[in-house]
Amino acid sequence: MYHLKAIIVGAGIGGLTTAIAMQQAGYEVEIYDKTSKLRPAGAGISLWSNGVKVLNRLGLGKQMAEIGGEMNRMEYRSHKDEQLSHVDLIPLIHQVGQRPYPVSRTDLQNMLLEAAGADKVQLNMRCIAVEEDETSATAIFENGHRATGDIVVGADGIHSVTREYVLGHGTEPRYADYVNWNGIVDAKPGLCDPDNWVLYVGEGKRASMMPIGGDRFYFFFGAPLAKGTTVEPENRRDELANIFSGWPTPVQNLIQELDPLETNRLEIHDLNPLERLVRGRVALLGDSGHATTPTLGQGGCQAVEDAEALTRFLVTTSIDVPDALKRYEAERKERTSNLVLKARKRTDTIYGKDPDATEQWYKELRQENPEDVTNALAKVILSGPMR
Ligand SMILES: Cc1cc2nc3c(=O)[nH]c(=O)nc-3n(C[C@H](O)[C@H](O)[C@H](O)COP(=O)(O)OP(=O)(O)OC[C@H]3O[C@@H](n4cnc5c(N)ncnc54)[C@H](O)[C@@H]3O)c2cc1C
Repeated sequence: MYHLKAIIVGAGIGGLTTAIAMQQAGYEVEIYDKTSKLRPAGAGISLWSNGVKVLNRLGLGKQMAEIGGEMNRMEYRSHKDEQLSHVDLIPLIHQVGQRPYPVSRTDLQNMLLEAAGADKVQLNMRCIAVEEDETSATAIFENGHRATGDIVVGADGIHSVTREYVLGHGTEPRYADYVNWNGIVDAKPGLCDPDNWVLYVGEGKRASMMPIGGDRFYFFFGAPLAKGTTVEPENRRDELANIFSGWPTPVQNLIQELDPLETNRLEIHDLNPLERLVRGRVALLGDSGHATTPTLGQGGCQAVEDAEALTRFLVTTSIDVPDALKRYEAERKERTSNLVLKARKRTDTIYGKDPDATEQWYKELRQENPEDVTNALAKVILSGPMR
């Protein structure tokens, strides 16, 4: 189909990537976001090769390489500082044809915003409803503005409003029973080797550092906590020092290096797989359709894959928009649902839901064959739209 106009609700990774892909296909786009200033949620993100390939296709490969960290290996260590496993990622890169890039979210967002066109984004626009008729779909905003196009893309994240229209009912995100802290530190000695992704695990918790561009590490911590705890930013270093007391020296160094005021603290949620991703001319994309725990590092990658698949079906078919959206749903629903459930299972294991299963996992890590790890990663990467 040619000459379509898309109304995109949400200027996160999913919405911006969709805007880039659709404009490259010759479509007109308008992007709306409720926020007054676009700020990425979180400090860093690891875009696995499947996500990077989509961005390559959109002409952003060189910029990704500039902002991405050179992550050549991955290492699990115990909270007593024993090496549990060590995986060379170079064979994976050769297997799938593209290296993954851990990046700062600010760098990623700036890159996507520039490519999408900042003038296409309208801020302070909170979508409150969606409606459609035979020939068009309309997003309705709190301030009374109405934006009408051939398609509405609901890229409005885990607390999506557009999802309610698509499903015909509300859905509550599910608390994953753990808190994630994340931020960025300079890559100083005493933390981690500059091409290594290290994960310390033990006591149903984890602490990790991975290299991003600009000689920095993206770090994250995770620990099981009841829902509803809050700790003010100025106290977050003390909170981490307490939860990770006795953990290895690099973890202690990290806690001392991090800026508590710039350390995000998030209760992690996901969504049960939805019964549908589309209704008529309205498509859910990214976290609005399949928010996942970050354990597999695939949430953002799936948003980017969604953008590629949705645009492709609109471009390559000619029946009508609802038909293209049905095809998009058929391609994306099973893959994204499976990844949500797979990530949830792994999350439960990491964070000690069943302590025996977690202990068993620590044992398995010690015996893990690196080739099995890279094959498993390659399977996830290669079973998406970008082979
Ligand atoms: C701690 C953590 C670590 C992660 N690590 C990784 C990783 O390593 N790799 C990976 O691939 N993924 C990772 N993810 C997942 C990834 O961050 C998300 O999947 C991704 O950001 C989803 O993008 P999105 O565009 O769908 O939604 P969002 O980024 O949530 O964007 C939604 C946008 O919609 C706007 N919006 C919301 N409601 C409205 C409304 N009513 N009207 C208008 N605008 C609205 C918001 O302001 C926001 O800008 C991680 C997630 C977390 C929490």
